[in-house]
Amino acid sequence: MSTLSATNRSRQKVLGYPVDVVDQELALSVIESAWQNGKGLHIVTLNAEMVVAAQQDAELDRIIRHAHLIIPDGAGIVWAVRLAGQNIYRLPGIELAAAALERAGQSGRSVALIGGRDEIVSRLAHDLPMRYPGLKVSGYHHGYFTIDEAESIVDDLSRHNPELVLVALGVPKQEYFIDRFASQFPHAVIIGVGGSFDVWAGQVKRAPALMRRLHLEWLYRLATEPWRWRRIGAALPNFGFQVVGDLLKGANKKNNKKGKPDTQADSTPRNE
Ligand code: UDP
Repeated sequence: MSTLSATNRSRQKVLGYPVDVVDQELALSVIESAWQNGKGLHIVTLNAEMVVAAQQDAELDRIIRHAHLIIPDGAGIVWAVRLAGQNIYRLPGIELAAAALERAGQSGRSVALIGGRDEIVSRLAHDLPMRYPGLKVSGYHHGYFTIDEAESIVDDLSRHNPELVLVALGVPKQEYFIDRFASQFPHAVIIGVGGSFDVWAGQVKRAPALMRRLHLEWLYRLATEPWRWRRIGAALPNFGFQVVGDLLKGANKKNNKKGKPDTQADSTPRNE
């Protein structure tokens, strides 16, 4: 996509899924340039659980691959890219989304909030402009609507042309939603933000800074929200085994190539 080639960020692959090597500043510059050029931008915040889900879900797979910017949200993604010998740092989606809100405020832009419980999203619609001066909330809606209601909700929200759209329905609901309705927000930066509304509203706590620094936020979430075991418990080991398996296969291929006798090498004069 053109927005990708416009920056100097590199793209890596994790189990075949693209991930952009970006820090917050670079990601924000991509967002700014989308705003300035009036282009739509879909940002996916990739983690290990999402990769494993996409391997079994052709629709999610397609949506991730077609996103304009895919940020390394999860520690597993960072681990896999580093294991393959490339340097990368984690960029949590919740932090990029908060930074995007701040930037939007600084330039007087507007945001639409979709998802979360009614009392949470309405509290945020009230609080965010105070937290980020200059920010306008052009509209909001809770995330507990039926498929039939979705269209009229989006019609309502898109009428005000928000420049930032944050969708907090969890994976993969939010990705399906974005895929289906992005064309109604043709000039917006759209980010699927999972449970970020709950955190911003003070309903859910993020891991302490030390755990975040040690890339153990996932462990904190498992400990504080044990129902996640069902979802993450199987996905993480599955992801880990696949990444290590891929790496070993790659190393084997290299070794096999090295082991083959190189008939030309003998006849080539050496420089020493
Ligand atoms: N949610 C929603 N509608 C739904 C299901 C979930 O609005 O039908 C919201 C829920 O209230 C929560 C968020 O989506 O705020 C999902 O948060 P979670 O941390 O589970 O997302 P993840 O990032 O793990 O996918």
